[in-house]
Amino acid sequence: MTHLTPTVGSIVHYTSHGTPGGEYTSQCRAAIVTAVDTYQDGDDHHLGHVSLAVLNPDGQYFARTVQYDDGAETPGSPDCPSTSTHGNPFRYCGCGWAEGSYRGGTWHWPEGSTIVTPIKTGASK
Ligand SMILES: [Zn+2]
Ligand SMILES: [Zn+2]
Repeated sequence: MTHLTPTVGSIVHYTSHGTPGGEYTSQCRAAIVTAVDTYQDGDDHHLGHVSLAVLNPDGQYFARTVQYDDGAETPGSPDCPSTSTHGNPFRYCGCGWAEGSYRGGTWHWPEGSTIVTPIKTGASK
């Protein structure tokens, strides 16, 4: 997993809060980083907060001190007798395992773009 430090102007995803009744599910929204807190910078990862301009289809709003969440799954007990059911079909297991998901109110890098590659110029062969 590559952890990049966001910079002002980066485009990331903001995970919206779903409603408890399920009328709205938690969704990825496009967001532009407007400020970066670096006080939680680690050696090889960035756990800080960012401020975001969140772009919803029906409006925008500004969120401050949004925490990063990489959506990793929660590991269960190594003694689990039914690890084959993890994620198929169950999203949770009695051993403590839980499917990865993004918590509402956090940000993450857009899926499928963990590595930022330079834009190639010129014709491709
Ligand atoms: Zn996303
Ligand atoms: Zn399990």
